[in-house]
Amino acid sequence: MFYEDTIAAIATASVNGGVSIIRISGENAVKVADSCLKLKNKTLAEVKSHTIHYGYVVDEEGQKIDEVLVLLMRTPNSYTREDVVEIQCHGGAFVCQTILDLILKKEGVRIAEPGEFTKRAFLNGRIDLSQAEAVMDLIESKSKYALESSVSQLSGIVKQKIQKIRNIIMDDVAYIEAALDDPEHISLDLFEKDFLNHITSSISELGKMKNNYDNGRLIYEGIQTAIIGKPNVGKSSFLNAMLGTERAIVTNVPGTTRDTLEENVRIGDVFLHLIDTAGIHETEDEVEKIGIKKSKEIANDADLVIAIFDSSKELTKEDIEILNIIKNKKSIVLLNKADLNSVLNENDERFKKITENVLKISALNGEGLEKLYALISKMFSLEEINVDNDVIITNLRHKNLISKAIENVKKAKKTVEENMPIDIIAIFIKDILEDLGNITGEIVTDDIINEIFSKFCLGK
Ligand code: GDP
Repeated sequence: MFYEDTIAAIATASVNGGVSIIRISGENAVKVADSCLKLKNKTLAEVKSHTIHYGYVVDEEGQKIDEVLVLLMRTPNSYTREDVVEIQCHGGAFVCQTILDLILKKEGVRIAEPGEFTKRAFLNGRIDLSQAEAVMDLIESKSKYALESSVSQLSGIVKQKIQKIRNIIMDDVAYIEAALDDPEHISLDLFEKDFLNHITSSISELGKMKNNYDNGRLIYEGIQTAIIGKPNVGKSSFLNAMLGTERAIVTNVPGTTRDTLEENVRIGDVFLHLIDTAGIHETEDEVEKIGIKKSKEIANDADLVIAIFDSSKELTKEDIEILNIIKNKKSIVLLNKADLNSVLNENDERFKKITENVLKISALNGEGLEKLYALISKMFSLEEINVDNDVIITNLRHKNLISKAIENVKKAKKTVEENMPIDIIAIFIKDILEDLGNITGEIVTDDIINEIFSKFCLGK
């Protein structure tokens, strides 16, 4: 074990709920827990691991604070691999804090840092770094796909894939080193072909993982969707219509600023993060100008831009500007107000030359929304991503390391093709091993470890 000191924290959210859990982990976990517990005719120290016990948390004077259930998980079969005690108390934020304060007054225990329980699971070798990061992703999952991909990463799928590639390359290094040591008996002549094969397949495997990152990011963060259009085309009405349909489940409102309105919406399995300029409040003359400028800004960073036009009116100069904004973006054109007499239609060349995704809708009566949902699902083809079989990278750190590894694999390949001395090839190979080892945490600095775990929430 790396850590001697015992840590404690509230492991559940700090709101009033049914049950809350206080977790203690470390050498003194049982002793500390026993000093605040009153169980029926027994102490935790005497009971078997992986058992649950009923009792009370009591203060220094023996006063009952709460009625609790206590779980004991002895080393090494616990979350952290240390002795772990979990106290399930009544879920009031105040009760919970009182119990934690009581625990923290005891000798040999301190409050856990954010992510410290998971960090110990990593440092004690129960999980690798990619699995630890998956724990955090899992907590923050906002959609079915995000949850599934985190769970599969938690089971070590990224680690397995990376290790497979790493092992093959490691064998190559061993072979090269042996041949350099004993050139008389071990020949490098035949090895070159094998090595090139290994390298080529590594590039392809790593490339696949890297390409999956974009899908992974969409899964994890949702599709950043900008809704743009000049004033009065029906942006707010469209947003409301979408939020109001049964298929669109509004999850939360993360950041509604003065200028934009943001909503998270889940349509089936697709998760959209909608950003709308509807919140602009300026004087009438200014609003158009600001609207276009803001539209440009939000469209820039979006994965998908939904541009709305009023189909009952001829296009204006501002509409054309909006069309220019979406020229090189993944976009959908919505011709709103389909319930009125139409001036614009789907086959209009002015739209068609920009995008093939043109739909007529009515934010007023909901016409066309189902078609829109189907289109979005198709465009992001999330249906085709098989979370179980594809290794999906959702973490930017992993993606950057994979990109670096690919560069080094390519360099190694080139050195072989150009018949460079074998010890130069070995240098690149060692770099590849380091890049890959950084993902799983086999080779990783303390700074990186601390940075990763500091992003965790308290008690995890
Ligand atoms: P925004 O400025 O783009 O957010 O536009 P609003 O959503 O505020 O809509 C402007 C006006 O158009 C309002 O009076 C809406 O009731 C009306 N409107 C929006 N969508 C439709 C629609 O599909 N059909 C009709 N007939 N009117 C609509």
